[in-house]
Amino acid sequence: MTYVSLYRRWRPQTFDDIIGQAHVVRTLRNAISTGRTTHAYLFAGPRGTGKTSTARVLAKALNCANGPTPDPCGECVSCLGIREGTAMDVIEVDAASNRGIDEIRDLREKVMYAPTQGRYKVYIIDEAHMLTPQAFNALLKTLEEPPPHAVFVLATTQAESIIPTIQSRCQRFDFGRLTVSDLAAHVARVAQAQSISIDPDAARLVARRADGSARDALGLLEQASAWSPHVTVESVLSLLGVSDFDILTRFAAALADDQPGQVFQIIQEAVDSGADMRQFLQDLILHFRNMLVAKECPGRPELTDVPEAAYSALTRQAASLSRDHLIRVLGALSEGEAQLRRSFNPRLALEVTVAGLYAPPEQPTQELQPAAPAPQQRQAPAAQPARAATRAATRAAKPAAAESEGGGRFSGITEAQWQQALARIKPASALLEAFLKDVGSVRVEGDLVRIVFDPAWAVHAQKVSEPDSKRLIAQALGEVLGRNVRCESTAARVEARKESPALQPSAAGKSGSPGVDFADMPEVQAAIELFNPREIKTITD
Ligand SMILES: [Zn+2]
Repeated sequence: MTYVSLYRRWRPQTFDDIIGQAHVVRTLRNAISTGRTTHAYLFAGPRGTGKTSTARVLAKALNCANGPTPDPCGECVSCLGIREGTAMDVIEVDAASNRGIDEIRDLREKVMYAPTQGRYKVYIIDEAHMLTPQAFNALLKTLEEPPPHAVFVLATTQAESIIPTIQSRCQRFDFGRLTVSDLAAHVARVAQAQSISIDPDAARLVARRADGSARDALGLLEQASAWSPHVTVESVLSLLGVSDFDILTRFAAALADDQPGQVFQIIQEAVDSGADMRQFLQDLILHFRNMLVAKECPGRPELTDVPEAAYSALTRQAASLSRDHLIRVLGALSEGEAQLRRSFNPRLALEVTVAGLYAPPEQPTQELQPAAPAPQQRQAPAAQPARAATRAATRAAKPAAAESEGGGRFSGITEAQWQQALARIKPASALLEAFLKDVGSVRVEGDLVRIVFDPAWAVHAQKVSEPDSKRLIAQALGEVLGRNVRCESTAARVEARKESPALQPSAAGKSGSPGVDFADMPEVQAAIELFNPREIKTITD
């Protein structure tokens, strides 16, 4: 018996089986019911979100002996052939394998012949963005005058790389990342059907770690069930090679105790144990994030990724650290992560990030530090036990902190993330990318991205408000932020702050800080007593 992975075994066979893409399914079902299907579709979205599976269900729906029907029978020759991958009329082209040159040539020669069994010849072109320009051109000629029996589905993770002339001939569907609850339910369902015993917490952890991909979630479930007969949070964590809880705890303690020697020693330990530095930094970020959650939402272990046995230790450490410290270290580490991703020497990048936490304060310049230079310059006398590390973290975390405080151009997104998004937009529209460089402020709150231009740039705002622009931006930001977002763009008059002449005119920021109310933080309250009100106003404003 050949081995079939869980993901392939649990591929959706009907539209009802497809998880989390309700808008796509509804539109396709309607089109099939009313006989208004088209000849070319573009399925765009991250990997593991069901693009190819949906294409196969569409092929079944079109070619089912009882069809075309939105509910293919699953039993006729055509349905079975598609299920087994043997149907002559459904041709899958993997553009990633040899960039599709031979396949597209072959396609052009054969597409005119009538289908052998079904009503339609369905061409599913996977990773379509990998096609060479020649293959694209060949495909374009076919798409311009498709024979009535041909249906093309172009599946891609990078729709912006598909040339506009092809895009304009396709009906486009955007597949979103699957939510954690969708995935957790799917994992639990598959586990039950496969007689795999899994704790609900472990199913949620698998779902969270799968990053929106059903393929990854089921892959993880499969590995975890091979690892231990009963899948628990602990077994999933061991499988993931997540850094030992102990080393993360010691790192956090050494950082809070202002002991750089120990911090670097711990990095050395991680290197010696063969840890991947990117993974280690991500685990550190998760650890500090878990502490913040444990502090903010006491008694809710399910909101963290840690095993139950470790939760009390996590809570204890979180209690010993201030909320401000946690937020600032998180900001610095997240900045470091962006640098690590670009670095050829991840260990060095991690060490530089950590060293940044200990760097002495620089003399602030007006241009670079419009928000509140003084509090960072001076040191709060014994305000917190971890004051030195906090002070150091304050320096390193400056950009992130400034964003959270609502005073900068960016909020809910780092400047590095914004730059990454721009880099993704540029190949699709260099003009849009150029316009976006003049942005006044970018605020991400939940799934909404607000892009504000100074009124002088009203034309920019208008261009950015166009549906195509918004789609490109939402896609790029979605990829960078790892979740679905939508965006709106306005040109708004920027209020000059009387008490803060150093503020850049573009730093409009009246909408308040997302998620965290800094004014209520005890650290800020303490700071208000220490520093003069003029400076404080710029923090809490
Ligand atoms: Zn059928």
